[in-house]
Order: sequence, then C-alpha cells, then structure tokens
Amino acid sequence: MSDILVLVEHAEGEVKKVTLELLTLARSLGTPAAVWAGPGITAEAKARLAEYGAEKIYVAGSADIVDHVVAPKAELLAQLVAGKSAAAVLVAATAEGKEVAGRLAVKTDSGVITDAVGLSEGFVADQSIFGGGVNVHSRVRKGTPIIAVRPNSTAPVPAAGAGAEEEVAVELSDVAKAARVVERVKQEKGARPELTEAAIVVSGGRGVGSAENFSVIEGLADALGAAVGASRAATDAGWYPHQFQVGQTGKTVSPQLYIAAGISGAIQHRAGMQTAKTIVAINKDPEAPIFELADYGVVGDLHQVVPQLTEEIDKRK
Ligand SMILES: Cc1cc2nc3c(=O)[nH]c(=O)nc-3n(C[C@H](O)[C@H](O)[C@H](O)COP(=O)(O)OP(=O)(O)OC[C@H]3O[C@@H](n4cnc5c(N)ncnc54)[C@H](O)[C@@H]3O)c2cc1C
Repeated sequence: MSDILVLVEHAEGEVKKVTLELLTLARSLGTPAAVWAGPGITAEAKARLAEYGAEKIYVAGSADIVDHVVAPKAELLAQLVAGKSAAAVLVAATAEGKEVAGRLAVKTDSGVITDAVGLSEGFVADQSIFGGGVNVHSRVRKGTPIIAVRPNSTAPVPAAGAGAEEEVAVELSDVAKAARVVERVKQEKGARPELTEAAIVVSGGRGVGSAENFSVIEGLADALGAAVGASRAATDAGWYPHQFQVGQTGKTVSPQLYIAAGISGAIQHRAGMQTAKTIVAINKDPEAPIFELADYGVVGDLHQVVPQLTEEIDKRK
C-alpha cells in the first residue's frame, strides 16, 4: 500500500495527541508514514509514532525547516509526495497545519480539504459547513489528496507499526527561506489542556453573569480535566480572555464532550463547536436554541447546576 504522509505536530520533543489521531486514521487507508519536520526527535517520540502505527518515520532534522515559518514544511512534504509516490497527506487542521496544506496543494497541483471531522475509504472526508448547518462528504479529484483533519475527530488507538526511520535532506528554495523566525516566546501554560486539543471543553456564556463567576466554569473544567471556553458575549464583556472564544470568529473545537453553560446557541457559536461528539447544555430557558443541538440538556440556573455537578464529579474521584 502507498504511503499516507502524516505531518507530525510536536513540541519540545513530544508528539501531540492529534498526530496519534491522524496515524489512527491513516492506518485504515494505507501505510502510515510520519513526517518529522525540524530538529529534536527523541527515542520516545519515535517509539510513540511507531506505537500508533507509523510504518515509516521520515526525519528532516535540519534547523532550516523550522527557522523559516511554514513554507519549508510545505516544500518538505512536496518533495516527499513526489519522491515516495504518497497516496495522501494528512495534517492537523490547526492554523499552521492549514497553511501548510494550502501551500502544499499549490506546489503539487492537488486538491485540499480543510477542517475534516472524519475520513473514510477513498479519502472521503466529512465536513461541517455553512456555520455548521450542513454536513458534506467531499473527495479530492485532482493530484494527491491533502486533508487537514480537526483535532479530536477520532480517538487515537495504538497498533504497532515498524517505525522504520529514514533521514530526509531537503533542498529549500530561497523563497521558502524568505521569512526568518528571529525569536520564540514560550506561551505561559496553565494546568488546563489546550482549548483546540482538549477532549472535554466546558464553556460559559452571558448567563455566567460576570468575570468572577467564571470560577464556577473553571471549577467544573478542573474537575473534568477539561479546557475552558467562552461565547463571544462573555469575551466581549471582558469576563474571559478572547483567546478562549469558541465560534465562527474564535476557536473551532471538536471535543468528545462539550458542556455549554449559559450559552444560547447562536449560529456563530455553533460553528465552532457543533462537531463535538456529545453536547451538554445547561440553560435556564427551555426554549434556548442550544437545546436543539444538545444530546443532553439541563434546564436550570447554571449557578446551582454547575457547582452541584462539580461536587458530584469530585465525589466520584
Ligand atoms: C460576524 C459575527 C461573528 C460572531 N462570532 C461569534 C463567535 O465566534 N462565538 C460566539 O460565541 N459568538 C459569536 N458571535 C455572537 C453570536 O451571534 C451571539 O451573540 C453570542 O454567541 C451570544 O453569546 P451567549 O450565548 O453567551 O449570549 P446570549 O445569546 O445572550 O445567551 C445567554 C444565554 O444564557 C442563558 N442564561 C442566562 N442566565 C442563566 C443562568 N443563570 N443559568 C443558565 N442559563 C442562563 C439565557 O437563557 C441565554 O440562553 C458572532 C456574531 C457575529 C455577527
């Protein structure tokens, strides 16, 4: 079977969970071949990639790959697509992954699909479009399919692969080196998982009522090991930082569980969360549109419901 190239997302030598998800998807479609871009691959990282099915691991360890923003990654993948006759390329549908996908599509004269939430035989991708109102199945009909898959679209399942390592030397064009990274600032990370990667997200909206009250949402998130999200009404009011806004003009999340507390369910909010596997809504208005989307709904005051839920979860630990 042909290689399915999976661009590895990694930080400080660690493979991110989304890559394990992509390898899991790739296994059902061909031979998963992980592509490690940049220096710093570790024995643990290789073992992890093999554990989740990477038959091959292409390592392009040159610092040049990461010192010039995203263009070199697209050139690396283009080289591998041509050299290894790859059947498809999977990347994470992160901001960077989607930019790499777009550039790669131009370089290889191929079609690209972004924000896939599922992938099946024949590289048919599931997408949720028009603000989440329509689900479509799409397939690339030109060149090598390039598909950006949202984090949490599938559960990562281990199944050992050979993990055969191959060094790759890349000839970067001058154009790819036009922009240089001059400084890296480490983002202060809290104890909570990253919003777009979290398996569980607890979000609060205008119903939370104030910045102080967001501690109720954070309490439930911490009990569940979840990330905290917010509606635009909450971020615009200054109750929670904008980087946590979920929706059309915020982050897109696709967790296993999404809990929306005091959020009405406007189309722009749905656009960012409606591909969550299970949606729980807590709202005091039984007519709130969020209940049309929710798998489970609690009609009640979040200030009573959420602390009780947190307490119950803590008791079971
Ligand atoms: C171009 C554009 C882009 C946008 N992008 C986004 C986006 O990315 N993300 C986003 O979220 N919005 C976005 N919006 C805004 C969106 O249209 C809504 O205005 C917003 O999502 C509403 O937020 P909300 O549900 O928190 O507030 P509201 O719509 O005011 O709903 C609050 C809900 O809380 C409930 N409630 C109140 N008190 C309680 C309580 N004590 N307990 C339980 N429930 C309670 C109410 O019944 C109500 O349903 C965008 C709008 C536009 C025009």
